[in-house]
Parts: sequence; C-alpha cells; structure tokens
Amino acid sequence: MKVISDPNQPTLVDRSLAAVWHPCTQMKHHESMPLVAITKGKGPWLYDEQGMALLDCISSWWTNLFGHSNPRINGAITEQLEKIEHVMLAGFTHPPVVALSEKLCALTKRNLGHVFFASDGASAVEIALKMSHHYWQLSGKPNKKKFVCLENGYHGETLGALAVTDVAIFRDAYGALLQDVFTTRSPDARKAKPGQSSEDVAKEAAAELAELFEKEHHNIAAIIVEPLVQCAGQMAMHSPEYLRLVRNLCNSYEIHLIADEIAVGCGRSGKFFACEHADIWPDFLTLSKGISGGYLPLSLCMTTEKIYQAFYSDQTQQGFLHSHSYTGNPLACAAALACLEIFQTEQVLEKNIDRAKDLANAFAWARTDSRIEHWRQQGMIIAFDVKNSALKNPKSFPREMFAKCLEEGVLIRPIGNTVYVMPPYILTADESAQMGLSIARALDKVLV
Ligand SMILES: *Cc1c(COP(=O)(O)O)cnc(C)c1O
Repeated sequence: MKVISDPNQPTLVDRSLAAVWHPCTQMKHHESMPLVAITKGKGPWLYDEQGMALLDCISSWWTNLFGHSNPRINGAITEQLEKIEHVMLAGFTHPPVVALSEKLCALTKRNLGHVFFASDGASAVEIALKMSHHYWQLSGKPNKKKFVCLENGYHGETLGALAVTDVAIFRDAYGALLQDVFTTRSPDARKAKPGQSSEDVAKEAAAELAELFEKEHHNIAAIIVEPLVQCAGQMAMHSPEYLRLVRNLCNSYEIHLIADEIAVGCGRSGKFFACEHADIWPDFLTLSKGISGGYLPLSLCMTTEKIYQAFYSDQTQQGFLHSHSYTGNPLACAAALACLEIFQTEQVLEKNIDRAKDLANAFAWARTDSRIEHWRQQGMIIAFDVKNSALKNPKSFPREMFAKCLEEGVLIRPIGNTVYVMPPYILTADESAQMGLSIARALDKVLV
C-alpha cells in the first residue's frame, strides 16, 4: 500500500489506494504509476481536483460516445428519474425499455427482433452462450454444446465469457475454472505475408475454421467473434470478408454466429453495427459499452425470431429463465434512447466520416515513423504498434506511455506495444490534431 504523505490529510488518491481495489490493476504498480482522481467531466475533457484537464482519447474504456456531462443525456436521465428509477423486468415493463428495444430491432431491419437485457458486457456474452446452448437442447441436438472462439479474442471476464477469451493476462490464472473450447485462427490482417491482402488472411483463417466445422460440427453450438476489430486483443483488425465467410460456414454446418459488438457496435466501426460492413446478420448480437453513452451499466443480447420461437412454449423450463436484478433498468434505457436520438438528429454516422479523416490526419506522422508498424484504422479507432527495437522495456511501456501522456494532458492506455485512440464522437479537428501531437511528444520521451 502506498505510504500516505500526511496521515492527517490524506488526498483522495491516498484514500482510494487504501480502500478501493482498482480493476485490471496490479495495485503495487501505483507505488510508481499515477492514480488520477477525477472530479468533473465536460465534453471530451476530464478534470481532477486541481482543475488539470485531460483529453479522454479512449472514451473512458470505450463507453463514452457523446462526451461527459452531455446535456441531452443528462436531461433524459433526469426526466426519467422523476418518473420511475427502477422496476423489475419480470412480469413488468416500462416505456424506455419498450422504445429502446423497438428502435434497436428496427436498426437491424428486424433481422434481430428480440432483445434480452443485462447490465455489463460479460453478462450479455453469457446470455448469448446460454441461449445458443439451450436452443440446441430444445432442438433435439444436445451434443451441440461446444463453443468456438478466435485466437486473441476478448469477450469479458466472468467464467463463461472468459472461457471464450484468448488473452493470456486475463485467462492464465483461471484456466482450471474454464470450460473447454475450440480456439481458431484469428484473421488479424497484421499476419499478411508480403504480397498478401487482408482478404487473403481472412480466407486462410476461414479455411482453417471450415476444417474444424467439418470435423466437429456435431459438437459445436456457436462461434463467437468480435466483428472487424479484436479490441482488447491489441486492436487487431480484419477484413469484412471474414464475417461473410464465417456466416456462410455457420449456415452450412448449423452453427450459431455470435457477433460480440460490445466494443465495435454503436457506430465505432463507421456503421452502427460492424456486421453491416459485411452485409450479414448474426444469430446473436451483443451490445454494451457505448449503448448508454458511457453513463450507466447496460448490456443486451439481440436474437432472431427463429431462436425466440424455440423457447416459446407452455413449459416453464423451456423458457430462457436467466435474469439480473437490474435487467432493463429504466434510467439506463433512457440514456440509451437519448443516444439513439443523438445518432439520428445529429447525423452522427455521416459526420463521423469527416471525424475519422481528422483522426487519420492527426496521426499521419505515425504512418512514416520508422519506430512504428501496422498503422491501422477502422472508423473511429486508430491503432499502431511500436516496434520491439524501439522499446526500452516492453513490459513497462504501457504504463510509462500512460504516465507521459498524462503529463501531455491526454488519457490513453496502450495495450502491450499497441498505441490506440478511440475518442468520443465529438472531437473538433483541432482537438484531434492536439491529441495526435501530444501522443507524438509522449512517444518521443518513452522510446529509445
Ligand atoms: C468490454 C468487452 C466485453 C465485456 O464487457 P464488460 O462490460 O467489461 O463486462 C465483452 N466483449 C467485448 C468485445 C468487449 O470489448
């Protein structure tokens, strides 16, 4: 534990380190790594007690779409607060959950016409896995119970979601607790050999998947993928061709396709759903993170009429009996509805085309920097990798880079040697440019 500088007057940071066990953190690292106490936010800016401003380049863990303290979202939550803050969703319903479900279904052109709600992303993944598993039991194919996931994929950290996650730092300590899954090759475009395109890599990965399906389809319930970008897996991007090929294979072998759009959904990829880039619909689609604009925990799993109907019966146990206490919370749904309204009335997806160009311009320097490789972009995500030869200490690079960026007034969290930004959809061209320059300066200080 950090030594408190003046025991009579501990700072907010001192008190936090004494009482709060922070997520995804080796707490001892805070002996040298800064912990930032945020007391205010406005637009893309976060402020600490002393008023120091930080540009939130990663949307507070990919959740914030329209800035902190957004007047329209604030207003929607406040208005809902005066009506009903929460009511259970079993046996009851309420206006925000109905309107939100209708709007989301319409966005899929009713290909996914049923929405099941939860609170965090991992729970939405659990729901998709359980629904798929249960569907095959109900359909007289109880052997179809194994899941296929992608190398380097991430789907959350509860035990079911972690089983289909292939990121060592999250998984290693808990391997003994996890169900057995098939892990198939990632279509990560960085693997392209000289002369190969990202489509070629996608085809090779899909060919390997086809072999697995051919051999094991009797035992496989579903494959889960993060469409276009494996975000926690160092922002590994792939061609939409992969999604088309996987959709076809799933059709041929009677295997569900789960599209985990928790990070890439809600416009992040350039379209509202990343699957739209490939012109396909999955059997299950999960959303969380951006859906409430980064305001309140809300997640959901959408599915098809066919799957919904398999559960529709006089038998109680044939229903999907899963639940969470805060399922479909009205305040969170009101925030999500406000976000969908902003998308519509402010032509967000159209304007993001220019915002994505601003981002590309802001990081143009990195495309030709000899210390950097694999510059890549998908919509409102830009990422690049620092070459090993430029790293002083690969293990501590993410923390050093984070700390140097704080000094420059920008919040980023590199993953391994990957630097990325994933800002809210509100940056001005000037703010984007400032972000690019600040990160370039910080990088100069950290690299050899
Ligand atoms: C963040 C994330 C999750 C897990 O969401 P939590 O709310 O953190 O549980 C699942 N899948 C993907 C693709 C994610 O990026």
